[in-house]
Amino acid sequence: MTIVNFGSINVDLVYALERMPQPGETLSARSFEQFLGGKGVNQSVAIAASGGEVRHIGAVGPDGDWALGRVAALGVATDGVARVATATGHAIIFVDAHAENMIVIHGGANQALNEAQIDAALAAAPSHAWVLLQNETNLTVEIVAKAKQAGLRVAYSPAPFDEARALAVIDQVDLMAVNQYEAEALRAARPDLSGTALLITHGAKGAEFIAQDGQRQFQAAFAVDPVDTTGAGDTFLGAFLAHYSQAPDQLSLALRYAAAAAALQVQKPGAAVAIPSKSEVEAFLAQQARAG
Ligand code: ATP
Repeated sequence: MTIVNFGSINVDLVYALERMPQPGETLSARSFEQFLGGKGVNQSVAIAASGGEVRHIGAVGPDGDWALGRVAALGVATDGVARVATATGHAIIFVDAHAENMIVIHGGANQALNEAQIDAALAAAPSHAWVLLQNETNLTVEIVAKAKQAGLRVAYSPAPFDEARALAVIDQVDLMAVNQYEAEALRAARPDLSGTALLITHGAKGAEFIAQDGQRQFQAAFAVDPVDTTGAGDTFLGAFLAHYSQAPDQLSLALRYAAAAAALQVQKPGAAVAIPSKSEVEAFLAQQARAG
């Protein structure tokens, strides 16, 4: 089942410093590393790694070759990614000797999606496709409206959380995927969320799916020792959607697969690069089943 993911592509530029610079001060970094980031990319990689068919729609700048190369190397087709004049979305991250960080984010090309690109991507989507989006690109409300007009199903991961944007589309989307804090914020803004299916993750506790009719299904997390939980939610959602879009009647299998994928992902450092392959997830599930 095709999933058309309108999502961010980010580069995380990480500088290790002895200490944070003061205003007006110039400091040399002890080291520098560059990582692929962005919730959009993480979710596309999770779908592809789970055997799903995903088309990533986004934008990078003139400096985007490195990011596009990394995305392609992780198994995601990049033909739907536009080249724009604005810099590729990035985060400048300072980490001091105490592992304290300071982060500046620039949305850049992620904020340069345009209506013609959205229309073309939706026109090329098969009628049974799902559309997926997060809050790291522009035109989210328009993407949802156009996707529903085209008769497609829409999954929305409203992170970073923006109450106004989430409430503007909640009645149109088919699946809202949120963590426990985003779920609380949504319920505070609108106590009755029935009518939209919700996928709520609760970190090490697990996840629950609440269907449109209110039926709930809980999936416990697997007990593992996490090393880095960055991107766990994206891994869970991508893995879940790859299965659920294919076989909506096999909800518990999709939830179990997603929990296994996320449990493996949190045991490795990094976000997209830590997402496990389908065979790794299946081996983990078989081992869990043997362990009883
Ligand atoms: P992030 O913002 O870091 O991507 P999130 O807040 O969106 O994460 P979480 O609810 O923390 O998402 O985690 C998503 C899923 O990942 C959980 O439902 C669970 O299945 C799995 N997970 C997260 N943390 C752990 C953990 N410590 N052990 C096992 N599984 C975990």
